[in-house]
Amino acid sequence: MALVKCPACRNRMSSLAKVCPACGFSFDKEATIDPEQVKLFQKRQFRQRMYQLRMFSYVAMTIAMIGAIPMLWDYIKGVENAQPIELMSHWGVFAVALGFLMYLGIRAGMIWVRRNYRASLPKE
Ligand SMILES: [Zn+2]
Repeated sequence: MALVKCPACRNRMSSLAKVCPACGFSFDKEATIDPEQVKLFQKRQFRQRMYQLRMFSYVAMTIAMIGAIPMLWDYIKGVENAQPIELMSHWGVFAVALGFLMYLGIRAGMIWVRRNYRASLPKE
């Protein structure tokens, strides 16, 4: 058994493996590795990762909304009753902060994924 580099993600893997354990690139169909196939695979994988990150960013925004809407609601109610609440002591602050931090992390992840993808493209 020898170690070879996956043509798609460059991870080391067993030469006996049919599928790369790191990225799922399949050697089954292509006995000889076609660079066009690898490029297509990387593009598909890049799109899939960006799509997943976008879905996570919607989850993060939803978490922030779950905090922001009751906060706003309680604030308006407080103003109507001439007893404005302290927004920073509202529980909603935690959900807003969590959602916002998640969103920032996801944006950073998107930048990282895009940079890695660009770096993997052949220089022309
Ligand atoms: Zn791989």
